[in-house]
Amino acid sequence: MKKKIFIIHTGGTISMSEDEQTGAVSPGQQNPLISTPLVVDEQIHIESHELFNLPSPHITSQHMLKLTNFIERISNEKVVDGFVITHGTDTLEETAFFLDLTVQTKVPIVLTGAMRSSNEIGSDGPYNLLSSIKVAATAEASDKGVLVVLNDEIHTAKNVTKTHTSNIATFQSPQYGPIGIVTKRGAVFHHSPVANDKYQVETIHKKVMLLKAYAGMESSIFYLLKETQVDGIILEALGQGNVPPSAVEGIKTLIEAGIPVVMVSRCFNGIVQDIYGYEGGGRKLKELGVIFSNGLNGQKARIKLMIALESTNDLARLQELFLK
Ligand code: ASP
Repeated sequence: MKKKIFIIHTGGTISMSEDEQTGAVSPGQQNPLISTPLVVDEQIHIESHELFNLPSPHITSQHMLKLTNFIERISNEKVVDGFVITHGTDTLEETAFFLDLTVQTKVPIVLTGAMRSSNEIGSDGPYNLLSSIKVAATAEASDKGVLVVLNDEIHTAKNVTKTHTSNIATFQSPQYGPIGIVTKRGAVFHHSPVANDKYQVETIHKKVMLLKAYAGMESSIFYLLKETQVDGIILEALGQGNVPPSAVEGIKTLIEAGIPVVMVSRCFNGIVQDIYGYEGGGRKLKELGVIFSNGLNGQKARIKLMIALESTNDLARLQELFLK
């Protein structure tokens, strides 16, 4: 029986072209991927749909929710063995993680993109698309959460991040590495993810902001944020989860106002823990009610807090969810 793979295009460099005169890379009237001949295995049947044609800095949580709903609708309407989603690389990890947390279907879902547009020499788009189709059509790819496939590597949505501004090997999973590779013949997995973290969301309307800590950070930014009707804050703290003492009063003010503050580390390896007892150290932040995350980067913790806040703003419950 032929495998049925459904491709959803959302835009990004993979769907753009370079203007030979100006060198500017931008979307055209027609997505070049639609007319690119894809030589796929004859055992694979492809159907595709263009949901958006947006550069990924234009993608918002509302687009992500539309994508979740679209995947669920297609899964209910027809038999699909796997989904491939083309997306701009800048915010690809955020959309991938949003889908990981919210899509209920168990078939493989693979996101891909490109660092070089369709008419540039060495364009990586068609190759990454073909690799992603191979992965989505592999039985072992199911029940591994949403996957990200570029440059012959298979990563989990939870761990992958864009690490380089222009290199085609930009997607990496710091600390954990890829869970599989793409070969000429197909996909080979060497790890299985352990976590299973799912949420049912109808709407996404909470405002969550992301702040990075730095030497000498003051409380003023937190006081300003309190005036913006923000629903939650992600704080990319220092090292194992510490902030300068001058920032503590500001964090305390937000928590006392009922605004959850979730802490991640600005280090891209490791997790935050309540180790240090000095002023601004993790132990003090825990006593204040700061929520400790489990290794997500700042942009993904923001996605998770937006989703979690749709069902609870109880600090103890949020802390449980952020340990998953
Ligand atoms: N700026 C582009 C985007 O994210 C980069 C890319 O797709 O690779 O849409």
